Amino acid sequence: MPDDKTTTVESVPADAKRYSKSKLTVGILRLVLSFMFLLAFLSLGASAALDGLIRRVTDNYYLQLSVYLLVFAVVYSAVLLGLDFYSGVVLERRYGLSNQTVGRWFLRDLKQWLLSTVLAIGGFVLLYRAIRGWPAWWWLIAAVGWFVMLVLIGKITPAIVVPLFYKLRPLTDRDLADRLFALAQRCGVPVKRVLEIRLSRETKKANAAVVGLGRDRRILIGDTLLDLCSHDEIEAVFAHELGHMALRHSWKLLGVGAVGSLVGFYLLYLLLGRSAAALGFTGQEDIAALPLLILWLMLFGLIVQPLHAAWSRYFERQADLFIVGRVADPQSLISALDKLAERNLADPHPSRLVELLFYDHPPIAKRIAYLRQAAETSSGAPRS
Ligand SMILES: [Zn+2]
Repeated sequence: MPDDKTTTVESVPADAKRYSKSKLTVGILRLVLSFMFLLAFLSLGASAALDGLIRRVTDNYYLQLSVYLLVFAVVYSAVLLGLDFYSGVVLERRYGLSNQTVGRWFLRDLKQWLLSTVLAIGGFVLLYRAIRGWPAWWWLIAAVGWFVMLVLIGKITPAIVVPLFYKLRPLTDRDLADRLFALAQRCGVPVKRVLEIRLSRETKKANAAVVGLGRDRRILIGDTLLDLCSHDEIEAVFAHELGHMALRHSWKLLGVGAVGSLVGFYLLYLLLGRSAAALGFTGQEDIAALPLLILWLMLFGLIVQPLHAAWSRYFERQADLFIVGRVADPQSLISALDKLAERNLADPHPSRLVELLFYDHPPIAKRIAYLRQAAETSSGAPRS
């Protein structure tokens, strides 16, 4: 990307390239291993054997389903544990990004696993209830249920889920807090709470985000970001988050997700029963065919991923450009992004293919280039 001014993203440190490549490789390996495990579990008879074993213990279909899912989740996670440990501990330590002990990583991973397994079992029980109760219409019920679940998760994430994993507190820097609230008011975005999230207990990486939906959403700023950036830079990052809120990105992504899930569940409805019968299972509600359902879901997710990433990159660009004319100097976001790239070992120039497939933010070099252009064209224009 041609750039006239010098920033650290011009001279990508070899570490950032190597780190990004390692993370990407581990991500792809994890996906391949997941597919292989599901195929093996299904075709080698392990799934049918597990189902048969559970049937001998209980006659209750939903209890059978729950126990099956629990055992399946344990085995599946054990298969992936080595890669997850390598990515979450070994790589992070090798590149000096980790601030946590191995014990704390395990505890956090276990907590995440428990939460997601409980949610998944609840979700699958409801899904199979729909499959059994409405064999021709369950895909529609599942799509509506999925949407409701995403809204509920969006509602409980800021107040319940995030505090399970991180310490939160109101910004202690009053000057900064006053500046941020004044900016939110100028932008016409009602913000009730700006919280400092303690990321430094586990990582050196710096970040900020909007979490939650509607009135329950919060802007979270990492303590690592507060330490790294100047007030001007933090204000610019905050303005980017305000952009997401002003432009209603969470609701729009949810709307896109709702349409996507409707198509996805309908395709699943078309494929599941037929593929299950072809492989000798009794039908779409056969618990032993569950890995087949997960395989189809993963395949659909894989196809949808680049579309979702493209949509997300578009929204990120909108939020970046939102700050122009709203903060005193858009260059502040450029210098913040530059610092973030350096600290987080982000690759500012990934290959186009990698960007298209996996990047949910535009690469940092691109963000800096369009911000520079927008700042130049808007300089001298009245502030909106
Ligand atoms: Zn963003």
